[in-house]
Amino acid sequence: METRSLISLHGGHSGEFCCHARDRLEEIIRAYIEKGFKIVGITEHMPPPSDRFLYPDERQKGMTAITLYQQFARYMTEVRRLKSLYQSDILIYAGMETETYAGYLPHVKQLIHDFKPDYIVGSVHHVDDRCFDYSRQAYDKIVLHCGSHEQMYLRYFDLQYEMIRELHPFVVGHFDLIRIHDENFGQRLLSPKIHGKILRNLHLIKDLGLVMDFNLRPLARGEKEPYLFRPLLETIKELGIPVVPGDDSHGKDQAGGHVPGAIRILESLGFDTHWPEPRMIRPDLKKNAKDME
Ligand SMILES: [Zn+2]
Ligand SMILES: [Zn+2]
Repeated sequence: METRSLISLHGGHSGEFCCHARDRLEEIIRAYIEKGFKIVGITEHMPPPSDRFLYPDERQKGMTAITLYQQFARYMTEVRRLKSLYQSDILIYAGMETETYAGYLPHVKQLIHDFKPDYIVGSVHHVDDRCFDYSRQAYDKIVLHCGSHEQMYLRYFDLQYEMIRELHPFVVGHFDLIRIHDENFGQRLLSPKIHGKILRNLHLIKDLGLVMDFNLRPLARGEKEPYLFRPLLETIKELGIPVVPGDDSHGKDQAGGHVPGAIRILESLGFDTHWPEPRMIRPDLKKNAKDME
């Protein structure tokens, strides 16, 4: 089947700039080129605003918010060097994946000011400042803290709504990540209260003209369902929101993984595979986006 060009707009985490990834960024870029990619967005995790939000592996390695900020600065320099070095082979976008926890908003704005990324991926990995995707154990503790899975999902989609409204991220990252350690996610995502919040968030994404991440990381882990659970993907298609593959790769062997299959799924559902060009959508310029549509 003919497909539009291979693309990933979320991924390229490297061992050079991320504790839970592997390999050098240049090796990852070369892997994309070898697999025939002409466009790729590299979106390293943002550094935290304070030591409070260090991940356990960063803490173990003695890293701090300051050293992670410095490491992120080196990432931005390196991704731009590679962008120009490999410009005849591949179009690289220098991006950043953001976090959603206490104090994120002024911090993200500051990082955008300091590093001027080409675009951002807006993600939520925390509920009430507790990281839920790091481990099953951490996830289950947050279910207890929230009172139930339903309450945890509701809270997640509220935090996500606020993040989208405030940041206008060009790509909304792994929209339904909250289901990561929940076997009954299908029934949960389609239950009336949670689905109502999902629809509200999707309408905001559409009104702001944002793009959704068809996140393939679960496939790399051997799971069946990418983020964007199939029934949600069908609703997103009906709403006319653009969806773009993201390998969420954390090493050169994962770079570009499962993207051809993802493009075939999008095509079979009737999605447009003329990919939109990543850009910064400035919140201050887009305040009245809803009125302008
Ligand atoms: Zn990561
Ligand atoms: Zn993520």
